[in-house]
Formats: sequence, C-alpha cells, structure tokens
Amino acid sequence: MGKALIIGCGGVASVAIHKCCQNSEVFKEIMIASRTKSKCDDLKNKLDGGRTIIHTAQIDADNTEEVIELINKFKPDIVMNLALPYQDLAIMEACLATKTNYLDTANYEPLDTAKFEYKWQWDYREKFEKAGITALLGSGFDPGVTSVFSAYAQKHYFDEINYIDILDANAGDHGYPFATNFNPEINIREVSAKGSYWEDGRWIETEPMEIKRVYNFPQIGEKDMYLLHHEELESLALNIKGIKRIRFFMTFGQSYLTHLKCLENVGMTSIEPIEYQGMKIVPLQFLKAVLPDPASLGPRTKGKTNIGCIFQGKKDGKDVKYYVYNVCDHEECYREVGSQAISYTTGVPAMIGAMMIMNGTWNKKGVFNMEEFDPDPFMDALNEWGLPWIEDFDPLLVD
Ligand code: NDP
Repeated sequence: MGKALIIGCGGVASVAIHKCCQNSEVFKEIMIASRTKSKCDDLKNKLDGGRTIIHTAQIDADNTEEVIELINKFKPDIVMNLALPYQDLAIMEACLATKTNYLDTANYEPLDTAKFEYKWQWDYREKFEKAGITALLGSGFDPGVTSVFSAYAQKHYFDEINYIDILDANAGDHGYPFATNFNPEINIREVSAKGSYWEDGRWIETEPMEIKRVYNFPQIGEKDMYLLHHEELESLALNIKGIKRIRFFMTFGQSYLTHLKCLENVGMTSIEPIEYQGMKIVPLQFLKAVLPDPASLGPRTKGKTNIGCIFQGKKDGKDVKYYVYNVCDHEECYREVGSQAISYTTGVPAMIGAMMIMNGTWNKKGVFNMEEFDPDPFMDALNEWGLPWIEDFDPLLVD
C-alpha cells in the first residue's frame, strides 16, 4: 500500500519496525532513519528478506531541514516519530513543509524544561488542516491505547463517563537493582515531576509520588501504585463527555523508588547543566549513559504488564462500571520481536496508528489525539496485532 519514514531506532522503534514488516500489505517500503545509523543497519540486516523493502539513513531530527530533505528524497505517506519528544516540533514542521502525515507516541517537551503539555502541538491544528494532512498524537499505549479505550467505552457503554482511572502496572523483573523500561531520561523526568489529576474542571497538583494506592491487578496480583501526571489526562478531560475526575497511576517497586530518591538527593536527576572538567554536562543525561539501555532488557525481563482504564458513569440513567485492559508477557514479546513488553506495548500501537492513516480508515485532516477517531477499527487491530484486550463489568475500584 505505501511508505513510512520511521525516525528513531531505539526500543519502541525496533518493535514498530518488526510489526511494519509483519504487515507488509500496508507497509510496502520503510525508511529507518536515526542518529546512529549502525543501529538502523543492524535492524535492516536482521529483517531483510521479507516483503517490506527496508532503507536506512542517518539523520539529526532536531534539524528540520535534514528531515525535509529526507522526506523529499523518500516521499513517504507518513513520518513516524519514534525518537524522543524533543524532536516532535522539528519533525511536525518538516511534515508541514512537505505535506506529509505525522505520528508520534509522546507529546512535545522542551529539552531544558521538564514540562510536557499538548499546547505546543495543538497550536498546529489549523496549519495541518489547511495543508490537508493528519498529525496523530500519542499513538503508543499510554497515551494511545488508553485514549482509544476511553473512546470505545464512551461509544459503546456510557451516555456519560464521570470517572476514569488509568492504571499502568509492570510486574516485570529484569534483575538489575535499577533500570528504566524506556528511555531513562524521559522516564525519570516523568516520574520525578509533580503529580496532578483533573477534578471538577481544574488541575490538582501533588508532590511527586505523594498519592499511593494498592491495587490487585488481574493476572499480576497486588502492587503499590502512585499517582502521576500523564499527558492523556489533558486531552481526555476535554474530549470525553461528563468527566468529573481523571487520574493516572503507575506501579513502582520499592527498590526503584529507593534508588530514584537517592539519585535525586545527590543531584543526578537534575537537568540543569553543570561544569565538569572544563565542559558542561547535564547530570540526567550522564545518568542515562551509565544506566542499562532499555533495549538490552529484553532477554532478561520476566513477568507481565497490565495496562488499562476503569470507567464509571451512566447509561440510560443507571450506574455503570467498566474496566478494559491488556496483559502482556515480557518473555513472549522477546520471543516474537526481541524486545520487552514496555517497548512492545508502545511499538504495536504506533504501527496500528500509522496503518489507520495510511489505509484511510482514520482520515480527518488536522492535529488529533487518538480518542478523536472511531475506536472500533483500532480495537480490532489490537486483537489482531498482539495486544488483545479483556473487559470486566464489575471491577475493583480505586478509592
Ligand atoms: P530510546 O532511547 O530507546 O530510543 C530513542 C531513539 O531516538 C534512539 O534510536 C535515538 O538515537 C533516537 N534519537 C534521539 N535523538 C535523535 C535525534 N535528534 N535525531 C534522530 N534520532 C534521534 O527510546 P524509546 O524507544 O524507549 O522511546 C521512544 C519514544 O517512545 C519516547 O518518546 C518515549 O517517550 C515514547 N514512549 C511512549 C510510550 C507510550 O505508551 N505512549 C511508552 C514508552 C515510551 P541513538 O540510538 O543515537 O540514541
């Protein structure tokens, strides 16, 4: 059917690329372009021989001109930004200049401020609409599948949804005392930031990890989970009818939290540059360099993830509860695509989102979050491409 330019070649991109190659009816040709070209070539060598034609290139995606040049050369139907959130705007600019569709899995955040919000990308709505192209924001699991779950709940089971709790549990064990499951810099910026949730039309801010709950997750068991700010809260609070409160919880083990606290206390998670032996270094970037590469966790990680949403609201005047979630097994993911489940649960929806745009199933022009499209074809594709979901109409609630 068409061509995709995939930017980035880390944990998430590697899964998405495997999945694009499994789906060669849609992804006839792909270009893998990243900062370190050897990683792209290694993956191409592993996957070559299938029906998807693979090209590789070196690119600095912070440089819009370089991205424009590569788009003009390869002429993709979509650019999948699977590098980092810092590159979102540079790549969106390149897509606008070349009238090419855009997709990412994380919303823009400036390199020097640990703050993410949709404003910067939503500002492109009119420009994308006028250019006749689509930008699909946050096509990972959370955001991404959690947003599609919300649209699905709204479409099929509720007249109004009053409460949403998004629960992200990882019971995987990689055997390291401390490592992050996706890009360490982005991960640590996210979990060390203040928490927040939306209630009665306003944001309530909390200290980092201030709110803790224990939840008994299906197929995983009881876990401690902590309230975080998360980007899909911002768009769901606007796009889902009748919302009174929306929260996001993620599980963390005690060892992870103790290490994080210690690293914070000694200044290693700071993004303020410091002077070291005559040069400027950012402590968090240095920390990333000494931590295990998330892509290397695949062969070591055992256990499962469970990510889903609990909805409460009304249908035909009656109270309704609904929980929809996916359980993913780290070792099965590794057997299939050589990655752990966090990369898998993000890379699969990235491929599906691109497919929805490329085959015209989702064809609105402008800048959109995932819950703004018909969820049904995406939900079917999750079952087909490795992330089946489970429904529970009488779930345990979070207090
Ligand atoms: P990795 O660090 O493993 O990979 C990032 C890749 O981007 C690397 O290949 C890196 O190159 C490349 N890159 C970085 N900067 C540039 C640049 N300027 N130009 C070109 N390439 C660049 O990260 P992950 O794969 O773990 O995460 C990827 C994205 O997925 C992140 O944005 C993350 O926030 C998001 N994510 C989303 C989730 C969701 O559910 N929505 C969940 C998990 C992650 P190099 O190899 O040289 O370092």
